[in-house]
Order: sequence, then structure tokens, then C-alpha cells
Amino acid sequence: METFYICSLCGRKTPFAYIEKHHLIPKCKKGTDTVNFCVDCGNQVHLLFNIKELEKTYNSLETLKNDEKIKKWIGWIRKKEDFGVCAKIKKKK
Ligand SMILES: [Zn+2]
Repeated sequence: METFYICSLCGRKTPFAYIEKHHLIPKCKKGTDTVNFCVDCGNQVHLLFNIKELEKTYNSLETLKNDEKIKKWIGWIRKKEDFGVCAKIKKKK
């Protein structure tokens, strides 16, 4: 049986293989708090914001979810049933 997690951003029920830990404050900035994101949201957040923005501004689920670009993203991705929709994403082993 597959284990499912809920993505903290888009709220999709996500198989474990497509879940990644997102560091609210980037790991390289010594952040330790993580949330579960699906691979798509994890990818998208890093596409939209650089490390500095993530550290200074988007360091909580609150600020991420209130961002217009993220709102648009969530509206789009939550209707998708597939995971790893971005071409570059590979399934974890
Ligand atoms: Zn997601």
C-alpha cells in the first residue's frame, strides 16, 4: 500500500515518492524547519524565488501562499492528477 502525504502548498494528496522536504529558510542559510511539498510545488517555489527571497520574504507558508504568483500556481497545479509534471523532475527511488 502506498503512503500519501498532503502537500502543504497545493494540498494535493501526494504519493511518498513525490514528496520532498522544503526548507522554509534555505538549508544553505541554516534553516531547519521543513514542510512537505509535492515535487511540483518544490520545483516551482525554487523557480519563482531565489535563495535570498526565500530567506528574507518567503520563509513561511503564509507569505508563500499570499503571493500572487503562487496563488496562480496553486490554482493550476491542484487540478492536475499527475506528479512530476515538470519535465526535469525524476521520480525518487
Ligand atoms: Zn504541491
